[in-house]
Amino acid sequence: MPKWTKEIVIGFVPVLLIFLAYVGVNILPVVIALIMLGALYAVTVMRGGITVGAAQERKRKKAPPAKLTFEEIGGQDSAKQELREALDFMIRHEEIKKFGIRPLKGILLTGPPGTGKTLMAKAAASYTNAVFVAASGSEFVEMYVGVGASRIRDLFKDARTRALKENKENAVIFIDEIDVIGGKREGGQQREYDQTLNQLLTEMDGIYTSDAPRILLIAATNRKEMLDSALLRPGRFDRHIQVDLPDKKGRMHILNIHAKNKPLHPDVNMTKVAEESYGFSGAQLESVMNEAAIYAMRENLSQIEQRHLSMAVDKVMLGEKTDRESTQEEKRRVAVHELGHAVLAEIVAPGSVNQVALSPRGKALGYVRHNPQEEKYLYTKAYLEGQIMIALAGAAAEEIYYGGRSTGSSNDFEQALNMVQTMMKSGLTSLGIMSMDMVTTEVLMKENQMILDDLAARTKKLLEEHAAVFEHSLDILLKEERLSGDEFRCQFRDSTLLPA
Ligand code: ATP
Repeated sequence: MPKWTKEIVIGFVPVLLIFLAYVGVNILPVVIALIMLGALYAVTVMRGGITVGAAQERKRKKAPPAKLTFEEIGGQDSAKQELREALDFMIRHEEIKKFGIRPLKGILLTGPPGTGKTLMAKAAASYTNAVFVAASGSEFVEMYVGVGASRIRDLFKDARTRALKENKENAVIFIDEIDVIGGKREGGQQREYDQTLNQLLTEMDGIYTSDAPRILLIAATNRKEMLDSALLRPGRFDRHIQVDLPDKKGRMHILNIHAKNKPLHPDVNMTKVAEESYGFSGAQLESVMNEAAIYAMRENLSQIEQRHLSMAVDKVMLGEKTDRESTQEEKRRVAVHELGHAVLAEIVAPGSVNQVALSPRGKALGYVRHNPQEEKYLYTKAYLEGQIMIALAGAAAEEIYYGGRSTGSSNDFEQALNMVQTMMKSGLTSLGIMSMDMVTTEVLMKENQMILDDLAARTKKLLEEHAAVFEHSLDILLKEERLSGDEFRCQFRDSTLLPA
């Protein structure tokens, strides 16, 4: 019955007021009092209601966290090792005390999205037999002054009470996207989140004073350079662990972890999938396994086959196939554009093209799939120039065959510009070794233009030299809508056999 009390009151009060007014009672003071009470309630809910919201949030987090161990995190060997070493400080606290070493308060995990930072924090909680409380930086941003700070207080209080209740000596608090509240404080301007940040610093300083439960703060960001130096100074987040995109071995490991609960065909070659998924994060690899399973299920098969995995890699990389119908003219332009990329890629890195396709995927109307290359950590000037030329080749081909470009090259140009910037920052241009702040925008623009003009001209020349390959491949691509790397290379071989 209490369930209906609110509804009954809401229905009854207006009826009563109307009745009283009807029989001649002055209801104005009552109405004013009700309006004032309502306003007061609304304000309290908005400011303090956060406490209600926070309580709900905490309730959500109170669900017993799945016991996740470091073994369930693929790759990231050095990050896991570093983290485990840091956590040993927390476990061997008695020894540490003897040496007078101050306990660790904060660990900062930095790295691109989806690389497993949250997983690391969860595994840290299991490793230290701690309760795990998580929040995201954006949860602390509120328009009302002081709300963010009070949420920080709640978060620490919650970690402490939960640890006491569950009889645990340790608590791990994980704050994702710490840069939202921990950004650099500039000038004298006081922002709401300055208070939040101050509160966080105060709570961190307070960690020493109470012995039980021991609290460890783990924060994650992919923009470490944005963080306020107060957060990074010794005694606060003074352990920084880089969680990078996995290399081939790491990708294999992650794929195998996510393949455990899936029926794989015995012929599936995971090494090949790991090679094809170069540059993927852990989250994207998880998605590859998931999508492959969906493809297999759609075909009513009982096992996931290699082609499902390749299709899933394409889907994660380029987006789902769409049934957008393009006009014949548009199709031809897309084919010219993609072949431009493919021809240049094959010239710059022979054997690198895996497939050219015209089928629309995600936002792209066509695509070139490249064969996995050796993983590189250092790039030479020649390599970067080659990659820029591949990026510019789509637009260059359109210029040759249509006399002008289309809007389809904006992504390519973005890639090219990023690579030119890398060259500039690494002292690989005629500007020599310099910092981007040392020179004016005009100088940078002039250098940028010079590099791109030169590379665009070289790209056009190469495409013109390979016009025969281009045109034969274009015919096949328009007819078949796809051209395999081997077929494409046949065109190259044939063209060299033809008399010039
Ligand atoms: P964000 O910065 O976007 O919050 P994150 O780095 O915290 O991302 P997680 O939330 O830890 O990433 O990872 C997302 C999902 O991706 C995980 O639930 C898991 O399925 C998968 N994943 C990511 N990295 C790994 C890994 N190293 N091993 C196994 N699975 C992984």
